[in-house]
Order: sequence, then C-alpha cells, then structure tokens
Amino acid sequence: MQDDLFSVEDQVILVTGGSRGIGRAIVGGFAVRGAKVVICSRSIESVNAAVNELTSAGHVACGFACDVSKSDDIRNTVQQTLEKFGRIDTLVNVAGVNRRKRAETVTAEDYQFVMDTNLKGAFEMSVEVGRHMIERKAGIQINIESLNTHMPLKGVLPYAMSKFGMYGMTRGLALEWGQHGIRVNSLAPGFILTDLTEKLWSDPTMLDWNSKNAPLGRLGVPEDMVGTAVFLASKASAFMTGQTLYVDGGFSSGWSWPIPLD
Ligand code: NDP
Repeated sequence: MQDDLFSVEDQVILVTGGSRGIGRAIVGGFAVRGAKVVICSRSIESVNAAVNELTSAGHVACGFACDVSKSDDIRNTVQQTLEKFGRIDTLVNVAGVNRRKRAETVTAEDYQFVMDTNLKGAFEMSVEVGRHMIERKAGIQINIESLNTHMPLKGVLPYAMSKFGMYGMTRGLALEWGQHGIRVNSLAPGFILTDLTEKLWSDPTMLDWNSKNAPLGRLGVPEDMVGTAVFLASKASAFMTGQTLYVDGGFSSGWSWPIPLD
C-alpha cells in the first residue's frame, strides 16, 4: 500500500530562521521527503551554507536574506518565492530571538528587538503569505511557540510575552482563515540544544535541573521537531487547526517535586 497520509512531497515550504537550529532541522526533514524548501534568515552567508548543503545532497532548495523585523524584507521574500516556485504550500515561522534579563532591566530597545522578530515579524509574514493562500484557497501555517506559551520562565519576559502573543495569533488566524482552506497550528518545543540556548545548558546546575524535571530525562535536539512539523503540514492533520502541540519531552505535563515516596 502506498500511504501518502504523512506526505509532504512536492510541497513548497518557506521557513523563516531556516538556516540554523530548529529551522535548519525542519528544512532538512522536509527536503529529504521531497519538498521544495525556501530558507530565509538575516545572514545570507548562513542561508547560502544551508542551501548548498541541501542542493549538493540532491534536494531542491533556495534561500533569501530576510530580516523578519523588516516589512520590506518580508514582502520581497514572499514575492521572490512566488516568482521561483509559483506557490507556497506551507509557511513555518521559526525565526526567533531572546534576551535574558530581569524585567526591571529590560530596555525599550530590548523589548522592541524581541517583539519585532518573534511576534510582529511572524504576524507580517503570516499575513503576507496568507493573502496568497487565500487566493489559492489552500495553505498550511505552522508557528514555533515555546514552553513559555504554557507558563512563563523567569528572566525572559519580553520573549514569553511574544510567545503568548503567538499563541493568540495562531488561534485568531485559524478562526479567520478556516473558511479559506488554510490551517494554522503551532509547535511548542521544550528545551532544545541550539545556538540560542547553548550557553544556558553549558551550566551543570541547569542540566541537573532539566534531567530531574523532564519526564524523558534529556534535552531535545532540533531533529526532535521534524516529525510533528511534517504531521502538521500533511494530510494526517487535515482536521486540525488553531492548536498548539508541545514537543517538550513531557515538561508541560506536570510538576516534578521532591516529595518523599516509599
Ligand atoms: P537559533 O538561534 O539556533 O536559530 C535562530 C534562527 O532564526 C537562525 O536561523 C537565525 O538566523 C534566524 N533569525 C533570527 N532572527 C531573525 C530575524 N530577525 N529574521 C530572520 N531570521 C532570523 O534558535 P533556535 O533554533 O533555538 O530557535 C528557533 C525558534 O524556536 C525560535 O522562535 C525560538 O523562540 C523557538 N524555541 C526554541 C527553543 C530552544 O530551546 N532552542 C525552545 C522553544 C522555542 P540569522 O541569525 O541568520 O538571522
């Protein structure tokens, strides 16, 4: 039996922040399954490096420099993608930044930097691609949220606020665009070892805390996100929209506490 339930073959997929970390793993996971991938991030060098790796392995990939905090970059990227492939089947909003600080030391510039990328950038990209998807009466959008969507962590308030915003955006767009055949869902990673979090997890106290509190007992790797992203982009999730799936090693399932048990 040929089962295409989880197929993403021939899809054109645009991934913001696709050059490194979680985005790079998602891009690779779709490319090996026959999707045509479009990578964008601020640094053209890292975009080109990712594109070269994929094309030299025989996959279809291209990329553009795009800072999602800049509206013009978003418009150009969507336009260039449509010129090259004629359509966008799936958008994945991965691009994200963080600044770890106590709330009382957060400057207006810190706040703006985080919000402009994580929330405004994702929203403007969703809407720009959404206009095209509305015309086609089809499309899939996946937003990368966080455990902060579920409960904020101390010391990352603008980041947590941006992810709470994304939680609302996912549901709001799902409500508005279901009638156009567009599904919008989110994937919320747990603690994943990437450039964004490397410094955090080089601290043995943090690692010890994670292994005591994560039901699966380990940090995630970017490749742990691929299966759920493919699921959300495929027919397997055809009746699902406006939802957040936590891919977090069980972290959000409950509290671990040091209660003495026999
Ligand atoms: P990385 O720092 O490893 O990668 C971030 C990616 O986003 C890079 O490709 C970077 O490329 C790109 N990027 C950053 N800013 C912009 C921008 N303004 N415009 C376009 N691209 C941008 O991060 P992760 O892979 O760890 O994180 C990816 C997403 O997953 C983020 O949204 C993050 O919030 C989320 N997440 C991560 C978790 C983790 O534990 N790692 C946990 C939960 C959520 P460039 O520098 O070239 O722009």
